[in-house]
Amino acid sequence: MNIILMGPPGAGKGTQSEKILEYCSIPHISTGDMFREAIKNKTPLGLEAQNYITKGLLVPDEVTIGLVKERLSKDDCKNGYLLDGFPRTIPQAEALQVLAKEISRPVELVINIEADKDELVKRISGRRVCPQCGNSYHLQFKLPKTDGICDACGSELIQRKDDTIESLNVRLDAYENQTKPLIDFYANLGLCKSVNGLKSIPDVFNDIQKLLDEVK
Ligand code: ADP
Ligand code: ADP
Ligand code: ZN
Repeated sequence: MNIILMGPPGAGKGTQSEKILEYCSIPHISTGDMFREAIKNKTPLGLEAQNYITKGLLVPDEVTIGLVKERLSKDDCKNGYLLDGFPRTIPQAEALQVLAKEISRPVELVINIEADKDELVKRISGRRVCPQCGNSYHLQFKLPKTDGICDACGSELIQRKDDTIESLNVRLDAYENQTKPLIDFYANLGLCKSVNGLKSIPDVFNDIQKLLDEVK
């Protein structure tokens, strides 16, 4: 399956990715996770991306598209992919159309997770993440089994540096102006399906599962 997960920051893309991957084993390509890994390792990509990410701005298209191009050309993507947080701009979506064709894996389904600003603020302010495996938790909505520790790998959970209210406001603007137009882009291709992200984590997954089953 060749799938894209879309939605504003905090809508639940990472959380639902974890569940989708248990259901269909395809590579998970999260540009946010890839940038954070590059920042941790202080690579040239990380140093460039860091300035944008801390401010809540999108990393420039050339950089992001180059990163995804390299990742999609790896062998494991011959069986499909789950793109999480890419594309986020029209030029990225256009580039993906070309890349996906090159690997004979055209996009089959775009899942758009919807949530309003009040909910996104609550989710982002209580989000805690695992710096090791990228899993997401929440102080109220998704507690780990042991306080402050990742269930999956035992690492100590942290708060993302860009999960501040200031950065969230910039990210929401970027979403409105640059990413939201993708809903129409993919709707015109007959690929975009929206789910109500305000439901509980299992209920959102239930709705996503139905969409996956239609494509499978
Ligand atoms: P969130 O979980 O809040 O939606 P991500 O982890 O997907 O955020 O991304 C974190 C940051 O990484 C974004 O705010 C942006 O700066 C950068 N980023 C991630 N994906 C992209 C992309 N496709 N294009 C440009 N910047 C991106
Ligand atoms: P995204 O990747 O879209 O930025 P995350 O999956 O990291 O979003 O989720 C943001 C925060 O909201 C996390 O703390 C997560 O535990 C929590 N969360 C995700 N989905 C739900 C939901 N349906 N209900 C309540 N909290 C949720
Ligand atoms: Zn972990």
